[in-house]
Amino acid sequence: MNRRIITALATVSVASSMLFAQGVNENQLAYQNVNTKNSAKNIILLIGDGMSTAQIATADAYLGSLDGKIYDQLSFEAFDHQGLTTTYSGSQLITDSAAAGTAIATGSKTYNGAISVDMNKNKLKSILAYAEDAGKATGIVTTTRVTHATPAVFISNNVDRDAENEIALDESDSGVDYLAGGGYRYFVGKNNKEGLKSKRTDDLDVVEMMAQDGYTTFISEDETSDFLNYNPKKGDKVLGLFGYSHLDYAIDDANQPTLAQMTEKGIDLLSMDDDGFFMMIEAGRIDHASHANDAVTAIDDTLAFNDAVQVAIDYYNTDPENTLIIVTGDHETGGLTLGFAGTYYDSAFATLSGQTISYESYSYNQFADYKASHTVNNCSLSDLESDVENYFGLTDLNDNERASLEAALKRSVAGEVIVGNTTQDYLLYGGYEPFVMEITHILNNRAGIGWTSYSHTAVPVATFAQGPGSEQINGVFDNTDLFNFMVNVLN
Ligand SMILES: [Zn+2]
Repeated sequence: MNRRIITALATVSVASSMLFAQGVNENQLAYQNVNTKNSAKNIILLIGDGMSTAQIATADAYLGSLDGKIYDQLSFEAFDHQGLTTTYSGSQLITDSAAAGTAIATGSKTYNGAISVDMNKNKLKSILAYAEDAGKATGIVTTTRVTHATPAVFISNNVDRDAENEIALDESDSGVDYLAGGGYRYFVGKNNKEGLKSKRTDDLDVVEMMAQDGYTTFISEDETSDFLNYNPKKGDKVLGLFGYSHLDYAIDDANQPTLAQMTEKGIDLLSMDDDGFFMMIEAGRIDHASHANDAVTAIDDTLAFNDAVQVAIDYYNTDPENTLIIVTGDHETGGLTLGFAGTYYDSAFATLSGQTISYESYSYNQFADYKASHTVNNCSLSDLESDVENYFGLTDLNDNERASLEAALKRSVAGEVIVGNTTQDYLLYGGYEPFVMEITHILNNRAGIGWTSYSHTAVPVATFAQGPGSEQINGVFDNTDLFNFMVNVLN
């Protein structure tokens, strides 16, 4: 199967230039009326946010390096059918997650920032709503806030992705049977009895409202073990929100359910429905780590995603005639690539295994403490060399690395804020903590990993499918076609 992917990668540039030469619409039409003889009772759609071929291949090379090999393979790379998916939005070549998610969920191109509304701001119906109409059970799982763009497009409509208070209300009313992820802050009321911090701007308690509608609720890290011990019964409805905002990165190992655990509980519940089920599972933070160019954190979240896919595969193996699995990304983030000018043809992915914490956790905890207790005049790299070694595995710093770390440290401690994207400073640190960014730059450089952006890119993503109707996933197609493919198999 590896050869298949390599061939697919080699054809990217040729195929995408053909796509634009012919005109995108002609190509899309060719896919609109694909008929499949196969229908599927269950659809499990898994989306890696910000996950393109490079994020997958980086995880492959990292896994391989741990075993002394050049390369390994994630579970879904062996699926029977694969293709490349274009991701441009209705307004821009480079999409955001709202427009990309809307394309997948509704089959319509829209502007960046739109939550399942079209270019004219009319509401669009999602594949999840069609599945509900067909009597199927439905579920949404994510590692971000459940009101964040990718989960939101399946169970709400809004002209603005940032209207998360409104999106939470839509979601509470969507009829979804299983909703699990982070972001309780838009659900708990301002004066909730647990004393949890709320960001609601009205007097509603959406958790209470959903409980009254029959949802079993698990709110905050404190209820993680209750959730893990809970045995769903047929017809149950579940709301699980295990963090104030996004769930923590896999590498930081918080007291929250893993993506695989949330997936497994959801499949246990939804598969009891006689009419079948539709479930969307998102690894939402491969994107965030890629924005910050933190390769190891992105890889760990990709591996956690792979574990969730494995749960879907295990279920598929019990019911292969009735279950379609689709694995895709919504766009690429960071302009990640395997190779860097400073390392020629060499790479050293095993170097990455020394990192034990995300850039985010180190910035907000250990490094924030250091900053709070030091000034530009008394800060020194020598105070932090043990951190650099213990948390990032970096030893034997050379003179250049030392100098750039020392300079970045002074800028961090001075509290410099980098505004706008026009300065060299932005290219260096992207608005993140300079000292922590310098550590990840050194790690990337030593491993032989390159990044071109702190935003998304327009590189096509890879899509993989297994099960009835999966033969539609073939060649180069647009993200809107994923909606058509799913509608086809649901009849
Ligand atoms: Zn993003």
